[in-house]
Amino acid sequence: MSNNALAIEDKAPPPPIRINSTIGGGNTNKWNEKDKKIKKGEEKSQPFNFPHKGNKKVKNPPLVISSPFGYEHIYHVGIDPSTGEFTGMPKQWAQLLQTANISKIDQKKNPQVVLDVLNFYSSETTSKSQKYMSFTDNSREAYNSNSVLDAKPVPEVAEVLPVPEAEDPPAFPPRPDHTKSIYTRSVIEPPVPPLAAKPTTENGSSVTDGAESSVDKTKKKPKMTDEEILEKLRSIVSVGDPKKKYTRFEKIGQGASGTVYIAVDVATGQEVAIKQMNLQQQPKKELIINEILVMRENKHPNIVNYLDSYLVGEELWVVMEYLAGGSLTDVVTETCMQEGEIAAVCRECLQALEFLHSNQVIHRDIKSDNILLGMDGAVKLTDFGFCAQISPEQNKRSTMVGTPYWMAPEVVTRKAYGPKVDVWSLGIMAIEMVEGEPPYLNENPLRALYLIATNGTPQLQEPEKKSPAFRDFLSRCLEMDVEKRGSARDLLQHPFLKVAKPMSSLTPYIITGKQMAKGGL
Ligand code: ATP
Repeated sequence: MSNNALAIEDKAPPPPIRINSTIGGGNTNKWNEKDKKIKKGEEKSQPFNFPHKGNKKVKNPPLVISSPFGYEHIYHVGIDPSTGEFTGMPKQWAQLLQTANISKIDQKKNPQVVLDVLNFYSSETTSKSQKYMSFTDNSREAYNSNSVLDAKPVPEVAEVLPVPEAEDPPAFPPRPDHTKSIYTRSVIEPPVPPLAAKPTTENGSSVTDGAESSVDKTKKKPKMTDEEILEKLRSIVSVGDPKKKYTRFEKIGQGASGTVYIAVDVATGQEVAIKQMNLQQQPKKELIINEILVMRENKHPNIVNYLDSYLVGEELWVVMEYLAGGSLTDVVTETCMQEGEIAAVCRECLQALEFLHSNQVIHRDIKSDNILLGMDGAVKLTDFGFCAQISPEQNKRSTMVGTPYWMAPEVVTRKAYGPKVDVWSLGIMAIEMVEGEPPYLNENPLRALYLIATNGTPQLQEPEKKSPAFRDFLSRCLEMDVEKRGSARDLLQHPFLKVAKPMSSLTPYIITGKQMAKGGL
């Protein structure tokens, strides 16, 4: 491996380094990689950690018994026809709009979007009863007729954004604070008239949350109990002691749900990555089952290969192939990728997406953090905790899932959506490869959501520096109209991919990205 690396270094000049790196090297804001990983893990211990006061790190909170739930707090938000302004807007929401610099003009222009994003970005710091909010079909219809809008808290079904204190606007944090995934259960179910034709995906199937089908929203799937989850896991995992099967454990990373180790398979000598998760500490154990099953059943060269899993005491160990190059995030934040390398990464990701979508799986959290790299330039998709299984019988999904800056407008505005949300996120990831970060990363998060919903296709800062083929590829991924947006299959034929360099051309970028993230060359 090191010989290969040297050989490549001899041939190719080192890639250009990004001088406005948001994470590690390239400027004065350097952390070493270990700190970065730990920082990420700490931050991810909150459901959605937008900036908090003083940028303090938050340790895993102790498990607490939640407040009573099953009650509702209803807001009646309407519009004054003479002024066009909201009436009945909770004070806290008005403050949020002020903090996010969403003006009265913006509010009048796009009232529904404002309510959609506000609903998403609701309060943790106020009372528990207001922590979780959702629209109902009725409320949406009522709103559309300019009368009443109900926002109902639905405890236990949604994880939403903690609200920064209104009088203390958040400082803009470094990239990792912004890049966490969120999962909010479906709260708006698109009305599906029983006889109406169901919307279909490009594969001809209609889509749904699986667990949250909108076909019959009165039939809510009951939450699995811990015992049921354990039983399901027992039926999935292998029997045996992985401590005997694997050796030389070394910690390589920390995620929200667990710690990742590199280890060696005693029998084969193969290096593997093992993610160890304490089940007691998992807020959403169903997502782990989801992750294992999807990885196990969807094997592809561009998907991190699931190898095995074990229950070890209170921990679940997931064994997967080890990717030594780390995540694409280090590359995009530390180096300036050229179009040839960007095209290569896009093609590999599209191959993974085309495969997933044809197997009726939507990933829903495509971003550079979830792309792992081999030192040979292999590009593999990971993190399947948020993916959705779709089926011909079930309807579209409306769950707010993903990471806001990468979310497609139809997700942000809580419309029914399908596999093309992954294509939008890939387009945002292509922008990351050009600019080092997704659009609006420096905006107040609520404003970023508003901008995603209202601004249309995001533009490159210096589009003239990119080829027409690349610009066209981006516009095909970042098409607001879902029908017109390319599918993964369509985009695999796009001329931009023809400029793709060999995968090995990524190796110098990976080496530089890792070195810079560790603290510089
Ligand atoms: P979570 O999935 O729990 O929300 P996460 O996505 O931040 O958290 P993990 O998937 O737990 O992170 O991974 C933590 C770290 O371990 C990541 O930074 C990643 O670089 C590294 N890692 C994860 N899987 C592998 C792998 N298969 N090979 C090499 N490194 C890995």
